[in-house]
Amino acid sequence: MPAAPLPRPGAASTDARRPAADLWRVDLRELGRRAGSMQELDRSLPAPEGLRVELIGVPEGAPVQLHLRLEAVMEGVLVSGDLEAPLVGQCARCLEDVEDTLHLSVQELFAYSGSTTEATSEEDEVRRVDGEHLDLEPMVRDAVVLALPLAPTCTDDCSGLCVDCGERLDDLPADHSHDVVDPRWAGLAGKLTPPPGAPGGTNPKEN
Ligand SMILES: [Zn+2]
Ligand SMILES: [Zn+2]
Repeated sequence: MPAAPLPRPGAASTDARRPAADLWRVDLRELGRRAGSMQELDRSLPAPEGLRVELIGVPEGAPVQLHLRLEAVMEGVLVSGDLEAPLVGQCARCLEDVEDTLHLSVQELFAYSGSTTEATSEEDEVRRVDGEHLDLEPMVRDAVVLALPLAPTCTDDCSGLCVDCGERLDDLPADHSHDVVDPRWAGLAGKLTPPPGAPGGTNPKEN
């Protein structure tokens, strides 16, 4: 007798055909509205586009791991927990590729429509439950973008690039310097110096 298939995260084939944005919407019917009821949400969702700042971000479609707890409270649904997402970017000092993993904690109240919280807060002050759903994407987007470093570095003490030759200083010997005049310029300097005994001025008309 075949066992009833258990839903596995990411295994729902119907989800693959839906727009990714829908995956971030959580159906609240199972949780219900009785204050104190609770639901664990462990999911891996594809990152939406634009989870980035200038030099680093979460690649679109990369797995964002959510370990969240949804708790029905008087005013709405309290969402708290952790998330993890892969980061790809560039070192702000030497431009080398940087890969990292972002770990974040979140805690936000999604207010029910008609709740006191909703009635007494401005539109953008509080997140809202949307009918029987709540949309995790804007919360995750705000939290991730805020947490991204504006100047990521490949190592904690990356020395950056040599201002003279543009090579990574960490790849060069410690005594790397450009104090010595480049031989090509030294040769040119010799040609520009008038030979001994030649007239000081160079006036073409004198020939
Ligand atoms: Zn670097
Ligand atoms: Zn150099």
